[in-house]
Amino acid sequence: MNIPLPFTNLISEVQLTQTKFQIERANKIVIITHVSPDGDAMGSSLALYHYLRNIGKDARVIVPNSFPYFLKWMNGADNIVVNTYIPTVSEALIKNADLIFCLDFNTLKRIGALGDQVGESSAKRILIDHHLSPDETFDVTISYPHISSTSEIVFRLLAEMGKYGEITTVIAECVYTGMMTDTGVFTYNSNDPEIFEIISLLIKKGVDRDKIYNLVFNNYSEQRFRLLGFTLSERMKVYPEYKAALIYLSKEDQKQYALSKGDTEGFVNYPLNIKDIIFSVFIREDEQMVKVSLRSQGKFPCNEFAADFFNGGGHLNASGGEYYGEIEDAISIFENGLEKYTDQLEDTFI
Ligand code: 5GP
Ligand code: MN
Repeated sequence: MNIPLPFTNLISEVQLTQTKFQIERANKIVIITHVSPDGDAMGSSLALYHYLRNIGKDARVIVPNSFPYFLKWMNGADNIVVNTYIPTVSEALIKNADLIFCLDFNTLKRIGALGDQVGESSAKRILIDHHLSPDETFDVTISYPHISSTSEIVFRLLAEMGKYGEITTVIAECVYTGMMTDTGVFTYNSNDPEIFEIISLLIKKGVDRDKIYNLVFNNYSEQRFRLLGFTLSERMKVYPEYKAALIYLSKEDQKQYALSKGDTEGFVNYPLNIKDIIFSVFIREDEQMVKVSLRSQGKFPCNEFAADFFNGGGHLNASGGEYYGEIEDAISIFENGLEKYTDQLEDTFI
């Protein structure tokens, strides 16, 4: 069924033809997404997974490490292979795959230990992503950084391949989850009117927006909520002169609140609620390293800040990086970094 779609074509003819061709000739298909998968990583991967299974392909989703508990309700989540739990299974799947989809990341470094296996695999590789500057290690590169979520790109890809009729309620729910989470429930990166054309189609496909919002956001543990309170009251520093704020958690802090995977997801956004704060950074001490999450408003490039000081990257308003050393040193680096970015911070209005 080819219905006229209420949005402009995104995916090029060459990309459409090549993707269709690769899907047709493949049977064993692996879908891989980035380390610490978020709603968009999970939503885009599972949407594609359901489509491929429905057309008879032997598809599996592999994630480098576990995903947060507030995404476990997603249809297909219980069939995902978590590499850190069963590495031999993911290795065999990658080795035997005819085709590998790489979703929501732009370089094989973002899939941790799986990067080498995917790099060495003889399978064809298709990238579907919205991060800047993708690596050139893919046979087909479907990269659109101006689109706010990979899930939206997956939706557009299916629709533009003429498969709109095959988008089921389950697929639509996965797509909606990714679009919703990567835009902070349509509060940033979400001014493109076509986003709402697509949401309208997703609702027609059976998506219940209220239900999905509740499943993702009203699903936190009591511990997480108390940890949020502690973080904002005891572990936040505000730098009004730089329009910036920092929150940080040591290993010890996290132990006291019996932290589980995903418990601190979204914390970094809260300081942006403070009047005139346009740059928020969350520094968290993990097992192997210090993880840094950055968010900004307006034109302030938090991805450049992440690349400059924390060997990271990402989007203009949402980025991340890592630091190998003491958390106190990471905090000093951040504070010194504010100095370097003073002019850009001052010039940004919202
Ligand atoms: P989050 O703060 O939610 O973990 O990450 C936000 C965004 O920053 C991600 O969507 C991703 O684009 C980017 N990002 C997070 N961590 C890293 C990292 O270590 N390296 C790079 N290059 N990008 C990251
Ligand atoms: Mn994404």
